[in-house]
Amino acid sequence: MSAPLLSIRNLSLSFGSKQGERTQVLKNISFDIPRHRTVALVGESGSGKSVTSMAIMQLLPTSGLEIDPQSKIEFEGRSLLDMRGRELRQLRGKDIAMIFQEPMSSLNPVFSVGEQIAETLMLHAKLGRREAGKRVIELLTEVGLPDPEKKAKSYPHELSGGQQQRVMIAMAIACEPKLLIADEPTTALDVTIQKQILQLIADLQKKHGMSVLFITHDLGLVGEFAHDVVVMRDGEIREAGTVEQIFDSPKDSYTKALLACRP
Ligand code: ADP
Ligand code: MG
Repeated sequence: MSAPLLSIRNLSLSFGSKQGERTQVLKNISFDIPRHRTVALVGESGSGKSVTSMAIMQLLPTSGLEIDPQSKIEFEGRSLLDMRGRELRQLRGKDIAMIFQEPMSSLNPVFSVGEQIAETLMLHAKLGRREAGKRVIELLTEVGLPDPEKKAKSYPHELSGGQQQRVMIAMAIACEPKLLIADEPTTALDVTIQKQILQLIADLQKKHGMSVLFITHDLGLVGEFAHDVVVMRDGEIREAGTVEQIFDSPKDSYTKALLACRP
């Protein structure tokens, strides 16, 4: 087994109230994201999935959450929690990309989607404007947007929810990240569109060989395309294993309950 792309060890997070009490939101969680694999992080709402992704993106200092000092997160063997400045910008701009439930929260309403992807390419992939413009069309084609030349000129609100999410995915893969974090990317979409977006992420994972951390509250979604599954509840990892282990022989009572709830 080669070294994992990302490894989380004993990650604990808490937040403080005005009265000075601290509430633990992550309790000593550990798991790996191997290279070229899709790991599904599954748990009901409030279990700590999004704060885990924020810890990986190093976005905690702005959110009032505090990380316990024994926590370790390594990306390609480098301690991610110690990264600052340029190294951190490289990590967020290039090595790790993220998409969210609400694409509109990350898209700027006053620029066309083509301009926004081009901007990303110029900033992080150091492409010139012409080159970036060409690459935008290739990317929008790759994520399956119909009529990509026309769509590149559209403003975010002129696109459907599914199309906006495709634009976010195009933007996320623009700089060929090593890790794509997708935090409930299909929760806001209709069931048929959900399936298409899941398929797109699975196809891109195969084609580009990146690792994916797919966050969802719905264990039923991940059986077909995740390689590994991590089940979380109340800030703790209840069970982790390959998709076959989790679906065919779950050991934890909570995992069993989740599997029993599938439609
Ligand atoms: P999930 O993504 O699994 O639904 P979250 O990671 O968003 O859950 O939240 C985990 C827990 O941490 C929840 O109890 C939530 O209320 C709490 N939490 C998240 N962000 C903050 C914050 N900035 N300040 C205080 N508590 C927070
Ligand atoms: Mg969440």
